[in-house]
Amino acid sequence: MTGEQMVALTRRHTLYEWSAQASVDPIPVARAEGVHFWTPEGKRYIDFNSQLMCVNAGHGDPRIVKAIQDQAATLAYANPFMATEVRARLGEKLAQLTPGDIDVFFFTNGGSEANENAMRIARLVTGRHKILARYRSYHGGTAGSLTLTGDPRRWAMEPGMPGIVHVPHPYHGIQRGSDTAAEALAQLEEIIMLEGAHTIAAFILETVTGTNGILVPPDGYLEGVRALCDRYGILLICDEVMSGFGRTGAWFAVDHWKVVPDILTMAKGLTSAYVPLGAVGIRRGIADHFQEKVFYGGLTYNSHPLGCAAALATIQVYEEDGLVQRARDMGGVMRGLLDALPDAHPSVGEARSIGLFGLVELVRDRATREPLAPFNGSSPEMQALGRFFRERGLYTFVRWNTFFTNPPLCISEADLREAFAIIDEGLTRVDASLN
Ligand code: PLP
Repeated sequence: MTGEQMVALTRRHTLYEWSAQASVDPIPVARAEGVHFWTPEGKRYIDFNSQLMCVNAGHGDPRIVKAIQDQAATLAYANPFMATEVRARLGEKLAQLTPGDIDVFFFTNGGSEANENAMRIARLVTGRHKILARYRSYHGGTAGSLTLTGDPRRWAMEPGMPGIVHVPHPYHGIQRGSDTAAEALAQLEEIIMLEGAHTIAAFILETVTGTNGILVPPDGYLEGVRALCDRYGILLICDEVMSGFGRTGAWFAVDHWKVVPDILTMAKGLTSAYVPLGAVGIRRGIADHFQEKVFYGGLTYNSHPLGCAAALATIQVYEEDGLVQRARDMGGVMRGLLDALPDAHPSVGEARSIGLFGLVELVRDRATREPLAPFNGSSPEMQALGRFFRERGLYTFVRWNTFFTNPPLCISEADLREAFAIIDEGLTRVDASLN
């Protein structure tokens, strides 16, 4: 099929997510390898967003492909009431990788379902019903996880699930000055008091905020949240669907601050998206609640053997190739490239990153900090930048006044520099358009 046919047929007969269909303009993708993908006509793109911040191991790794093929040939499916070797091995492996006494896992099809189940577990264990979540967040597209979501994707679903209370974020993007950890914690404690601590089951947060701006928490914030949760008997749920599995230069972002959440949700990098799989990791003491009490939750594809096999092989690739360390090392190189942008380009308001999790915020005017596109909106300049990246074969997410730099963790320094050369050229055009 030609690229044009793919685009025409997918647009005619399938719905694209989060979009008015008349405005979608998908890139046809025929194959992918390493940090690149190609259209049917052979146009090459650098995948500078790991697709949806998920193909952490890189595309087409033969070790992961073979593990999936072998599992499909041996046992493609067994229902969730069965025991399988891959499920057994994956649970054991994740217990080793995840922090502290996180020891028990419930497998799902992806991140949204992981958060749905995390929320349910917290409610069942505590007997409380409210969940605190943050405004600058995305937790998924299903009913409960979309209600948890703080960003505008939630609006169309409102009022959503009862009992979810949004709290502010320790924000430190371009739109206003930084909140300190102490300010954010004081605000959080006040909200806990106002809502009634005894009504709050859990606080869910993205350890490092993903699509809402790669917001790295100030030191002391996560530790402080952990202490407040302990003080008030509130469970801490860290959503590491995007930040987990090496993305930030650690297995999980919480490892940077040595905080152990009560529940850790994951997906994306768990299988590098070769096969859909998510998981809820639970501390032993919390999971023990379900020794005598029923765990009310289930999915036909829970612990799907193909997903478990893909996850085991992906984790082995991270280990064999030292990809977590590589994300730290290449993250250092990327940090240098990002740090150089504001000096070279007046349109760059700020560039943030941790590991290979990065973002650039563009401004119309650095003095006034006016973003180059409004909150939840776009602008001719941002659209032109997106078109330029696409023309030049750089694929990344362009959102509002930001674009992302989230390549697969196997990226080489040469590929990083090639991508940044395109970024540099694109930003020079943006600068010129603002004069
Ligand atoms: N949580 C976070 C932080 C995410 O970034 C995402 C997806 O982007 C989700 C949850 C939802 O995961 P999924 O799309 O696999 O359901």
